[in-house]
Amino acid sequence: MKRKKKQGKLTAMNDLIITGSSRLMLMNEKGKLRLPHEGEVSWLPEAEKFLFPGYIALSLKDIDGFPSEAVEYGLRESWSILPSEKYKAAAKGAALVNWNDSERFCPLDGTPLLRNSEISKCCPTCGREYFPRLSPAIVVLVLRGEEALLVHASTLKNPEVMTLVAGYVETGETLEECVRREIKEETDLDVADIRYFGSQAWPYPNQLMMGFTARYAGGILRFADGEITAGDFFTRDNIPVIPTMPSLSRVIIEAWRDGKFSEIYKEC
Ligand SMILES: [Zn+2]
Repeated sequence: MKRKKKQGKLTAMNDLIITGSSRLMLMNEKGKLRLPHEGEVSWLPEAEKFLFPGYIALSLKDIDGFPSEAVEYGLRESWSILPSEKYKAAAKGAALVNWNDSERFCPLDGTPLLRNSEISKCCPTCGREYFPRLSPAIVVLVLRGEEALLVHASTLKNPEVMTLVAGYVETGETLEECVRREIKEETDLDVADIRYFGSQAWPYPNQLMMGFTARYAGGILRFADGEITAGDFFTRDNIPVIPTMPSLSRVIIEAWRDGKFSEIYKEC
C-alpha cells in the first residue's frame, strides 16, 4: 500500500525530557501538566543532549534557569499524567541521561569517554565503544491453586505493600534459573511450570523487568535471607495493598485477579 504523504507544516515541535535522579520537569499550563516544548527552556552551551524522534532529552543540571511555569515531578508518578507514549519517551530519555551522567570514563584506562552516537560513547585511547547497560531483573507470581504468593520486601517504602518475588539475573544463569533461585532463596519454596508473561523497561535507574508466573511445587514458606519480611498466599477476594502502576508486578497481579492464569494452572 502506498503511504500517504503527510500534509501540513513540516516544522517539528520536539518535547523536552529534562530529567535527573528519577525527576522530570513538567510545565504547568493552566493547571495541566505536560512535557516542556522546545524553546520553552534554555540550556547551557555545554549541555549534552540526546535526540530521538519528537524528543530532546537532557539533564536537569544543564538547564539555564528554571521557568516559572515549570515543576519538578517524579518520573514514575508522571505515568499517571502523561500520555503513555510520552511517558515511555521520558523513561527512555531518563535512562540515557542517567547513563551519560554516571558513566563518563573508560573502565579500562580511565580516559574521558566521547559521545559516538545517540546511544553510544567511545574511548579515544583504546577505541572501545560503550552502550547504556541494562540490569535484567525478574518478577514472578507463584500460584498455588486459586491462591497467589505476595510478599513484602524490606526495600519497599510503604510497609503495607505486598508484591511479587523479585530479583536480579546473575551472570551465567537463564531467566528460568533466576526465577527458581530467587523463589528458593527468598521463600524456600520450589516451583514448576515457569512461564513468561511480559516485560517492561524500568529506568530506575536501568532495569529491564521480565515477568513470569510459576506453579507452587512444594516447600513451607520461610523468609530465609532477610530480603522479605512478610508474605503469604492470598485469594482473589483478599488482595492486600499492591504496587501502584506502572509496575509490571501490578499488571501481573491484576491479570491473576481477573482470572487470566486459571486455565494454565488449573492442575495445581
Ligand atoms: Zn579506553
